Amino acid sequence: MATLGNPGNTIAMIQKYQFVFQKKFGQNFLIDTHVLEKIIRAAEITDQDCVLEIGPGIGTMTQYLAEHARHVVAVEIDANLIPILGETLAEYSNITVLNQDILKTDIQELVNTYNEGRPIKVTANLPYYITTPIIMGLFESQVPIDNITIMVQKEVAERMQAGPGSKDYGALSLAVQYYAEPYLVANVPPNCFIPRPGVGSAVIRLTRHKEPPVKTSDETLMFRLIRASFNQRRKTLQNGLNNSPEIPYTKEQILEAIESLGLPATVRGEALTLEQFAKLADKLVGIKQ
Ligand code: SAM
Repeated sequence: MATLGNPGNTIAMIQKYQFVFQKKFGQNFLIDTHVLEKIIRAAEITDQDCVLEIGPGIGTMTQYLAEHARHVVAVEIDANLIPILGETLAEYSNITVLNQDILKTDIQELVNTYNEGRPIKVTANLPYYITTPIIMGLFESQVPIDNITIMVQKEVAERMQAGPGSKDYGALSLAVQYYAEPYLVANVPPNCFIPRPGVGSAVIRLTRHKEPPVKTSDETLMFRLIRASFNQRRKTLQNGLNNSPEIPYTKEQILEAIESLGLPATVRGEALTLEQFAKLADKLVGIKQ
């Protein structure tokens, strides 16, 4: 039976172990059962699933996950939380807690050990300071993942879903949408956490595409083009790419590629769709350097 997920029990546990919140680990613990239920439902966790939870904290979501999943692997960096997790998760036999940094964890090895190499689900109330490296690391590593259902800063959830023409549209939108289909599950106000974060939060589900929605002959170049365009957002696409040390083409070659897509020379990167970035990469690959 899940027992955490409310202010009283969470505070009691923190006091019992004299736990001190560490800002550097982005520790804001969930105290709202409705939000926990929404995360579990949105992740579509079944008793067949192996779930990786990043940053279990005192085990609030971990308890819920353990009641729905076949197995839960919870990776927590803060050694001071391990004795607490020992108590809060004591009655579950389907949880493995690992005291380590997720950014230094071999997730493929976890998938092989705990799920025979089959796709896992990832859930987390993410430490906001490492949201982007965690998500991009998961996607780029090609680890088999079904979906990632995570709490992120509201503003980051908006960027993940944004399309061309929106002020939130950027490299993160394109990277996330290349690998997955984003779906906003819920907005979560600061009073659902202890301590309260200074910003609004949102739960977002990223369902991994089986095949990328666009094809390109050079994925690395496509992401370089995306990064270079948004690094210099105010500039035209042509100038942004020409100024980037990552793009080994002349201004004339860049212009030729842009115009061959039927786009004006003055177009900005923020106006291009993912498909247009893919085509631009293909055009440039076709032009001799
Ligand atoms: N899941 C808990 C909850 O919802 O109440 C805690 C969420 S709290 C926002 C983030 C958690 O991630 C903390 O427990 C923190 O110690 C942990 N954490 C921070 N950086 C980490 C890292 N690099 N690897 C693993 N865990 C990390």
